[in-house]
Amino acid sequence: MNITLGISSCLLGNEVRHDGGHKRNVYVTNTLSCYFSFRPYCPEMAIGLGLPRPAIRLTRCAGGIRLTGAVDSAVDVTDDMKRWSEGVIEDMRELSGFILKSNSPSCGMERVRVYDGNGVPARDGVGVFASVLMNAMPWLPVEEEGRLNDPMLRENFIERVFVYYRWQLLQKEGLTVFGLMEFHQRHKFILLAHDEAGYRRLGPLIAGLNRNNLEQVSTQYLSGMMTCLRTRASRKRHTNVLMHVMGFLKNKISSEDKQELIEIMDSYRHGRVPLIVPVTLMKHHLRNHPDDYIGNQYYMAPYPEELMLRNMI
Ligand code: SF4
Repeated sequence: MNITLGISSCLLGNEVRHDGGHKRNVYVTNTLSCYFSFRPYCPEMAIGLGLPRPAIRLTRCAGGIRLTGAVDSAVDVTDDMKRWSEGVIEDMRELSGFILKSNSPSCGMERVRVYDGNGVPARDGVGVFASVLMNAMPWLPVEEEGRLNDPMLRENFIERVFVYYRWQLLQKEGLTVFGLMEFHQRHKFILLAHDEAGYRRLGPLIAGLNRNNLEQVSTQYLSGMMTCLRTRASRKRHTNVLMHVMGFLKNKISSEDKQELIEIMDSYRHGRVPLIVPVTLMKHHLRNHPDDYIGNQYYMAPYPEELMLRNMI
């Protein structure tokens, strides 16, 4: 498995920031690097701003938001940055996700400072490169390094990366009607844990699938699926999914075991234990009473267990 993520170069420890420094992120370099390859991009270096360079920032002007010098607002690199960003997108088609540097006027994904004519900032901007990236590939899992400190957001991002990577494999193998139907079926519980209504909206697409509309439906499916996954999974929805899984075991395990599962799911639902606890107990019973349908659900193993993401949520 070789999953490649794009990343703002300074997060890998590369000294590309305007002051010659870096913003190495330890979780990225020490943990995520064991599971992903990284392809670094520094948009400001790429458009030739050099090192060290005067800081730039987003400035609100009469003609819209521009990327200008922080000291000399007459320096305007907006068009250069947009041109480079649009040109490099093709190079990013095979990426399975992107980790962006927060607060950067080039790379920031949200809440970037935009300065008005009096130098007063409002935190409502998006970095110019980040904006081009997210508009060109709205389905791509994208996250900022700061938000990866939040266990829920971290788990959500990495789960999306693995789902999208499996989608990319499906395309590479040659998409078929059966392949897309099977993909949908195997991701059912993951989708339900995020957004049941979103999952239900995908149903008619799959039901109406045939060889003639495969390409068109797959485009709509990808968009719908990634939108569904962006909704944060909740304890309530995970519990509903786990109840569903338990339904497959109900005639196979003792009433004491059932009672124990119910109590642990209740503890999880009320925040007393993390998700890994009921899932591990469920897997224990499924080892003794295998079920092909549940065994095929990516929900039971959405990413490598060693990432320990379900230990924190
Ligand atoms: S935030 Fe983006 S533009 Fe700024 S140094 Fe890091 S990679 Fe380069």
